[in-house]
Formats: sequence, structure tokens, C-alpha cells
Amino acid sequence: MRTTAKKRAALDGARQAAQRVHNQAQSRRDAKADHRIVDADRFLLPTYKRPPLVFSHGRGAYLFDATGKKYLDFLGGIAVNALGHAHPQIVKTIRREAARAIHLSNLFHNAYQGPLARKLAEWSGLDRVFFANSGTEAIDGALKLARLCSRTPGERPNAPARKHHIVALENSFHGRTFGALSVTSTEKYRLPFAPSLPGVQFVRFNDVADLESKFDDTVSAILLETIQGEGGVYPVSESFWNRARALATQHGALLIADEIQCGLGRTGRYFAYQKFSSKPDIAVVAKPLAGGLPLGAILTSEAVAGHISPGLHGTTFGGGPLVCATALVALETIDRQKLLANVRERGGEICAGLEKLAAEFDFIREIRGEGLMIGIELSREGGPFVTEALNRGLLINCTHDFTLRLLPPFIITRAQVREFLNLLEQVFRAVPQSAAAASSQAHTKSAQAAHSAAGFQGGPYAHTLTPKG
Ligand code: PLP
Repeated sequence: MRTTAKKRAALDGARQAAQRVHNQAQSRRDAKADHRIVDADRFLLPTYKRPPLVFSHGRGAYLFDATGKKYLDFLGGIAVNALGHAHPQIVKTIRREAARAIHLSNLFHNAYQGPLARKLAEWSGLDRVFFANSGTEAIDGALKLARLCSRTPGERPNAPARKHHIVALENSFHGRTFGALSVTSTEKYRLPFAPSLPGVQFVRFNDVADLESKFDDTVSAILLETIQGEGGVYPVSESFWNRARALATQHGALLIADEIQCGLGRTGRYFAYQKFSSKPDIAVVAKPLAGGLPLGAILTSEAVAGHISPGLHGTTFGGGPLVCATALVALETIDRQKLLANVRERGGEICAGLEKLAAEFDFIREIRGEGLMIGIELSREGGPFVTEALNRGLLINCTHDFTLRLLPPFIITRAQVREFLNLLEQVFRAVPQSAAAASSQAHTKSAQAAHSAAGFQGGPYAHTLTPKG
């Protein structure tokens, strides 16, 4: 009796696998013929490697492609879609404001910049806000503020600033414009565009001694991601933060927290730095700020704000009425729906589930992160797992070759966490050793190895499972 049931299950499994292969082949054929992909391949700058599918719409934590296939979205537009897709409040606000005024010049007040700035000040504990269009642009603005603040009273205002060094961290990512790129340590992004901004020094991640050795009175700012995102989900340690804060104060430099990926609720706090006892001088946010519309912001103290005056910085589009109205609703929704608690609870469930999987799959080396910003460090390359997940209707991403990164929306439910864990287990089971094997040796060169050497101390989820794999 039991043997018959087993045979039937095996047959069902084989049938489902054959159907899946058939469906994939069909969607590849469809995609090839899809004129939108043909046009993209023919006319776009080749800056991305994309799978051959076109997403048509989303709802909550799900996305749908042009063939109607459904995907559980655990990437969230790389930390943008905090409220999921087509959130009714966001849709309603965009409709309403589009019919009023999409754009008004920054030469005039609009109805939403002030209230949104007030909300961000309340959340952050900082005092003043400048709105930009993206993360990288906000980082560049923050570096400009640091330059202004570093000028000493006797210095000629138009001469190159003497105190102009910037300290940033190894393995960092801050964006693609020249300023942000100059403080991004990852060489494959930065070096092809050299020479970059002068005076930048990179400090080993969480290495207090290295930080101390590179800090002096010529430093105008230390810039860090409170949790490194692109670098593989590595939280800055409390001792490193405290030392950076103290050195910045001692040498008259600014501590700038890049919270573009980890801020605005992602860790279960409004800002990731709020787990520490001190504040930065500047916090930079973007990604989830406006519910999916492009908006970045520089938040800073009154003392820093005192160095800027009209005409020294500006933007055409940043902080328009439609985008600010939407951002205000997005932040109010996070408060009203108590989403920070959901982030903490669902994050805890995901990590507990991942630890169970780690007991079964020995290529899982470490699970780290906070709230709904989670990295799963593998001893094999992550690419094949991302592809298999996509085939099975799950969207995740791999960063620094070996870390699967999860950035689901804040609205995910307990049932969706279970769905995710089931899907991921299937993915881990399905990817053949050979597809991901080539790499365990290369892994010694990975970011994880660099971080281990620098004495990485993770956040609440940091759970090293080595030696393994
Ligand atoms: N800083 C961090 C930590 C980021 O993760 C990113 C984007 O991934 C940026 C800056 C750049 O932001 P944007 O792509 O909006 O320019």
C-alpha cells in the first residue's frame, strides 16, 4: 500500500517536472517573439543582464508576468516596494495628485514638502530635509554639505577646501554618480571611471584600529551604510559606529549614515542607526520613501543646515507635489498599519525557517541581517539558485556572487513567509551540485572572507554556520 503511494507520488513529481520544463520552453519561445524584449535588446544601453520575461503588474507581495505567471516578490524592487504592489492608498494618492499638479517648480512651496519633511524629522530625530530624486543624488548632496561644513573661518570660500578627505568603508556601495561612485569601494563599479573624487580613503569593515589610523583633522566626513546592502548584508558593529561617532565629533567631521537600503522601516526600526545610542549628522534615504516613485532625501541637523544658503544646492524634479504626497501617505501607512512590528515578526519567522534549512543544506554558511533585510551566505555561487527560484515563481537576488538577498515588502503575511520557505526549500533541493559547484574555492576571495578577516560581528540574525560546505 505504502509502495503504491510512493510510486504515485514519484509519478506525480515527474509529471510536474516535465510540465515545468515544457512551460519554461514555451515561455522562452514566447519571450523571444516578444517585441518589447526585441526592442529592449536592440535599443537600450546594455547595462543589465535580464531574464527573458516582462512583468506586467503586481498586487501586494506578488508580481505577474506577461504570460500570467505569478511570482512571490521577495526582492521588492531591491528594497523599494515596502508596501508591495498596487497598494490602494498609494494608487489613490497618485490618481488624486496627478489630476492636481504633477510638477511644480522648487521656486515655489507645494502642499507636501513641508509636512513630509516634518514626518521625516520626527522619525529620524534630525532637523532638516532636502529632497532629491534618487539615492545616489542624495549621497552627492550629502558630500557637498560635508564640504561646506569643513571650511574653516579663515579659508577663502572659493579656494579648494583644505579639510576635504572622506573616509568610507571597504565593500561599500553608495551609487553611480561621480561623487557616490568615488566613495563606493567595489572596484568593478569605480575603477572603469577613474579618476574619481580625490581624498577618499577606504577603511576595513568594522575595523576600529584601521578607522583610527585613517582619521585626522583633514577628514571632512565618514560615510557608511549602517547595514551594507549590495556588499552582502553586513551590519556595522556597535563599537565601530561608536568610534566613528566619537572620531567625527573630535575632528570636526560629519558622520553620514547611508540608510538608502536599510532605512525607513526595513530593519523594524525607522532607521537602522536607532539601535545605537547616538545619531549621525546626516542620514540619507531613498528607495522605499515614496511607495515606488523616485524620491531621495538628505536629513540633517540644524548645525549642518546652518552652512547652506539659497543657490548652493537645488534640483528641478526633487520633492515634487505628487511624489511628496505619495511619500507622506507611504510613511503614514507604515505607522497606521504598525508595519514595523510586522517587519520584526516576519523577519524573525524567516530567519527561524532559514536556520532549519541550514541544518539540512550544508552549503548554507551564514544567515545575517535585521528585520526584512536578510542575507543567506552560501558556499556555492548564488546565481543558479536565483534562476531556479524565478522558474518556480519566487523573486530573490544574489549579491557579491555568494549571498542570496531577501528584501520582501513590509506587508508580507505569515502565510507568505511559509510559502517562501517552501519554495526556497524546493529551490535548494532542485539546483544540482554541478550547477553551483565551480565556486567553493573562489568563495575564499569573497566579501565574506574579507569580513571574517575584519572581525565581522553581525546583527540579531548573524548566525555563522561555518565550518561547512
Ligand atoms: N546607497 C545604497 C546603500 C544603495 O543600496 C543604493 C542603491 O542600491 C544607493 C546608495 C544608490 O541609490 P540609487 O540607485 O537610488 O541611486
